[in-house]
Amino acid sequence: MTEKLYYKDVYIKNFTATVISCEKEGNSYTVVLDRTAFYPTGGGQPHDTGYIYYGDKKIEVTDVNEKDGIIYHTTNEPIPKGENISAEIDWDRRFDHMQQHAGEHMMAGCIYNLFGGVTQGLHLGKEVSTIDVLMPDGRMRLNDDEIYKLETLLNDRIQTDAPIRCFFPSNEELKTLPLRKPPTVDENIRVVAAGDFEMVPCAGTHPTTTGQVGLVKVLSTTPSKGFMRVSFIAGKRAVKYFMDLYISSSEAAVKLSCGHEALPKAVDKLQQDIKNLKEELVIYQKKEVNFLADKLLNSAEVLPHGRLIAEKLPDEFTSLKQLAILLAENDDVVALLQCGKNIAFSRGKDIDISMPEIIKQSGGKGGGSPDFAQGVAIDDECIKNAENAARKLLG
Ligand SMILES: [Zn+2]
Repeated sequence: MTEKLYYKDVYIKNFTATVISCEKEGNSYTVVLDRTAFYPTGGGQPHDTGYIYYGDKKIEVTDVNEKDGIIYHTTNEPIPKGENISAEIDWDRRFDHMQQHAGEHMMAGCIYNLFGGVTQGLHLGKEVSTIDVLMPDGRMRLNDDEIYKLETLLNDRIQTDAPIRCFFPSNEELKTLPLRKPPTVDENIRVVAAGDFEMVPCAGTHPTTTGQVGLVKVLSTTPSKGFMRVSFIAGKRAVKYFMDLYISSSEAAVKLSCGHEALPKAVDKLQQDIKNLKEELVIYQKKEVNFLADKLLNSAEVLPHGRLIAEKLPDEFTSLKQLAILLAENDDVVALLQCGKNIAFSRGKDIDISMPEIIKQSGGKGGGSPDFAQGVAIDDECIKNAENAARKLLG
């Protein structure tokens, strides 16, 4: 059995030990020490990382696992058996896990107390952690008011700075403890208690007071495989989240000339303004199309078999199709319109000319029905070619 220093003192960052064995496994090595502060992957908590030092060597520990009470450290280099080493764990990573883990216990306790939800599983992610909860009524989500209530109770409990106590009770004592959920192992059951409001079996690492969890923020509740999945962040992650949120919220508030709290109303107003402007734009576009149609009809070339309109419109014109369709309401009109690279050709019902055919003859690309076709002009000659082709057919 490896002596587990993280159970003696969870704040041990550096330690010395003796190498019991070192085995090559594939491209890496598995090192067993007589004692270790490296926490192995387990119970939803990821393993520690860090370094082992011996002689002038600094060897990275990339993975840590436990089997039958023995802790296995994965390294890229061998360390001779019997060697006395010193080691340090990546404390930022470990303390982050401690904050997420204790935050999870306290949140699970609050969900149980407030809603009767029973936590089934924990996953501590690199950015966001999750728990899956079985709600008594089978619900898969909490509403905003419930999340607010949960966060209030949870952070109030954190701020009591109550002790978090980890201990191995006797079988007799275990029977008397008000555990939130039963243990998943039969022996060496370790219990974690936060103040007088939370007690569960757990093998993970936690800070010694609730205050060190700092802050817990629920990010979402979503359905997941029959459970309610609660995503959350705790500790420094939550603090950073609020710092970043404040920066982005401030930028938006400055842009909308309002305070943070007034952002939703300011966005509502902005969206309403955009809606109004779009409606106004549609009215002006219709007016513009009507005005242009009148102008083009007045200057149309009158030919024996119909009137011909061929026009290059300004690049910024946005109602090409609408104008072409409106002009074709005149039974004797052929309208050949171009705007930038776009072309739209149309004709009235008395004209027996195929518009896709005119596009073909213009050298452009596109298609459509006999009375309306659209596409793109290949060159500046396109509209001229189309005009000449139509003029011949109308002549
Ligand atoms: Zn735990």
